[in-house]
Amino acid sequence: MIEDKTPHRTSLADLGEFGLIDRLTKGFEIHNPSTLKGVGDDAAVMDFKNKKTVVSTDLLIEGVHFDLSYVPLKHLGYKSVVVNVSDIYAMNATATQITVSIAVSNRFPLEALEELYAGIRLACKHYKVDLVGGDTTSSTRGLIISVTAIGEAEASDLVYRNGAQPNDLVVLTGDIGGAYMGLQILEREKAVFQVNPNSQPDIEMYSYILERQLKPEARKDIPPLLKQLGVKPTAMMDVSDGLSSEILHICKQSGVGCRLYEDKIPLDPQVISTCEEFNLDSTTIALSGGEDYELLFTIAQADYDKIKGNPNFTVIGYITDKSEGVNLVTRAGQFIPIIAKGWNALTINN
Ligand code: ADP
Ligand code: MG
Repeated sequence: MIEDKTPHRTSLADLGEFGLIDRLTKGFEIHNPSTLKGVGDDAAVMDFKNKKTVVSTDLLIEGVHFDLSYVPLKHLGYKSVVVNVSDIYAMNATATQITVSIAVSNRFPLEALEELYAGIRLACKHYKVDLVGGDTTSSTRGLIISVTAIGEAEASDLVYRNGAQPNDLVVLTGDIGGAYMGLQILEREKAVFQVNPNSQPDIEMYSYILERQLKPEARKDIPPLLKQLGVKPTAMMDVSDGLSSEILHICKQSGVGCRLYEDKIPLDPQVISTCEEFNLDSTTIALSGGEDYELLFTIAQADYDKIKGNPNFTVIGYITDKSEGVNLVTRAGQFIPIIAKGWNALTINN
């Protein structure tokens, strides 16, 4: 696995904690004037002037959230930043800083962690966020990564989950279901590889969905785009657990119901063809897949003209009174109550 891919192996024990932190954090640039002090002191110092501060954190555990037998460490580093800044964009805010904490077992050489940090560095550059701190410790088994993202916004720009009103339109950015189907391909190829280690996986035709799983991007472009269009969503969140689970959160917190239309859910052709290949229903995958990191939001009907025809946005339904419930309207016109089937880390037993 990891060990085989790294020709040079510098043991972490030889390097020591401070040597390791120095090696991992060098070469990171500071992009934001709000970062007054980054890595290297007892605490980082930030100054957001009169803006509000937004903070979000995620914990990623090897064997629960990622499998290093098919996820390259550089991709893992990149993705662990993406999933966090995505939460900041979901508040309609700008991501500005991150902290990264890792717990590693001695099975990881320095070179493996440098790969992880190469991915983190690339994401910091792409999303213009500053690495301002973290913690480094050992684990008895496996790798644990925790990233905290910090952002800023004008108080009047912040969007919560609880502001959706009856008759608002439900809007989704991009397309969904790809990350989940990418994972199905990776799991299948892993199973094939275990039977026949000489097999050469043929994955060219799945490039889009594999990228959605291995190298997702957060929608950094959406908050400034909405601002430019003069649209402030009434509620917003990112699609990390699956559309059904996310729309239920918005409806519950806003005290409303909704109707989503099956035929409006945006799916990439590769998602549709791979679902056919796996004998899966693409609507089910779109509803319960997760990890797409698109943004789901609601807007007032009056704002429809401002987003109409924009290729970033698809209107997939509208908000109703709470008494109508949360429903999917199928192509055949049937109403099906939406239940949360999103990916839930707590359902994994081992
Ligand atoms: P402390 O003893 O106060 O916990 P550390 O020696 O752990 O300090 O950390 C020294 C500096 O390096 C701090 O600025 C800390 O935030 C940063 N740091 C430690 N580990 C990491 C890491 N894995 N990634 C980024 N920064 C880190
Ligand atoms: Mg520390």
